[in-house]
Amino acid sequence: YKDFGSEDLAPLTNYNDNIKILELYHGPTLAFKDFALQFLSRIFNLFLERNNKNITIIGATSGDTGSAAIEAFKNNPRVNIIILHPKGKVSEFQRRQMTTIHEDNVFTLRISGTFDDCQDIVKEAFQDRSFLNDDQYLLAVNSINWVRIIGQICYYFYASCKYTNFNKDINFSVPTGNFGNVFACYAAHKMGLPLNKIVVSVNENDILNRFFINNDYSKQKVNETVSPSMDISVASNFERLIYDFYCDRDSDLCKNFYSTFPAKSINLPAGMWEKSKDLFLSYAVDNSKTIEAIQNVYKSHNYLIDPHTAVALVSVNKLNMNKEYPTLILSTAHPAKFPNSIQEAGISIKEMPKRLSDVYDKEEISYEFLADKNAIFNFIASNN
Ligand SMILES: *Cc1c(COP(=O)(O)O)cnc(C)c1O
Repeated sequence: YKDFGSEDLAPLTNYNDNIKILELYHGPTLAFKDFALQFLSRIFNLFLERNNKNITIIGATSGDTGSAAIEAFKNNPRVNIIILHPKGKVSEFQRRQMTTIHEDNVFTLRISGTFDDCQDIVKEAFQDRSFLNDDQYLLAVNSINWVRIIGQICYYFYASCKYTNFNKDINFSVPTGNFGNVFACYAAHKMGLPLNKIVVSVNENDILNRFFINNDYSKQKVNETVSPSMDISVASNFERLIYDFYCDRDSDLCKNFYSTFPAKSINLPAGMWEKSKDLFLSYAVDNSKTIEAIQNVYKSHNYLIDPHTAVALVSVNKLNMNKEYPTLILSTAHPAKFPNSIQEAGISIKEMPKRLSDVYDKEEISYEFLADKNAIFNFIASNN
């Protein structure tokens, strides 16, 4: 984490007597994913050196994962990294964060198609593998990767220690889409972290909220929201909770629940689902409430939060939680990454972090492809 911009990697800011905000966005790409990916790249490098191997990384992104992965693996002579994004469907800033890194081992591909087309090509790459050399591994860096979860467990302990010295159960409100960050919190708790409730805070893509409120885990179409890094139809890490928390690590039982999903929704047996109440609360926040919260917090505290953080804060305010326990809100991205939402809240950003202003000055390099896996696999092979 030497490339982080703040000496305290994860500073705590007071919100009120009972609530603090944990700023996780001081890494090189100004989102909390740097905690996972900076760590992951060092761990992998250790094993690549040890085993004298190389890797090709392939990933699809609609937001922050691509830039965090590129930033973590650029300059690594044992790694080629190929990131696909749907052309015209990521924000200019997020695109520039990827395309302005000019390194020989970095390939940003803009695909004429949707995020799902990109994701499908990544999945087929893992089936195909014909483009790899003998000494190469193929690696995915999406949030299913367990090393990412490990990297995220640490800041829960760090923040709790600073806040309460582990003397009190606390609440965490986590803005989430794929459930990776919530699962890291849950894992920390299983490792002994004193905890009262985990607040699962989601945007209008509310599959997780429907599960925790109504025992209805059913796939619906994705809505575009002002917190785009949580725009998902299915929470890929949620299966881990079903397996560990509800099924008590009975893999057959877990597999059974997933056997007809997503064609049919997952509804757990009532007695099993009831367990949720021991540890989880949840809330879904719409776009207008999100913008309103950015506005209100700025007025009352002269403090600017990004739309993902706003979702986590609104959840806590709406749930009217027991004040006996201190609460930590996870702040997952720097507000300047989302200038349109900040503008919509009627706020003008006075100061851009230097890391951010840089990306608007640099030339963009990327490669355009149709959603044609063979053309892309040939490209990867010829650049290997
Ligand atoms: C990725 C991301 C999230 C969601 O993370 P999950 O692991 O899906 O919970 C939230 N906020 C920001 C800014 C992100 O980049």
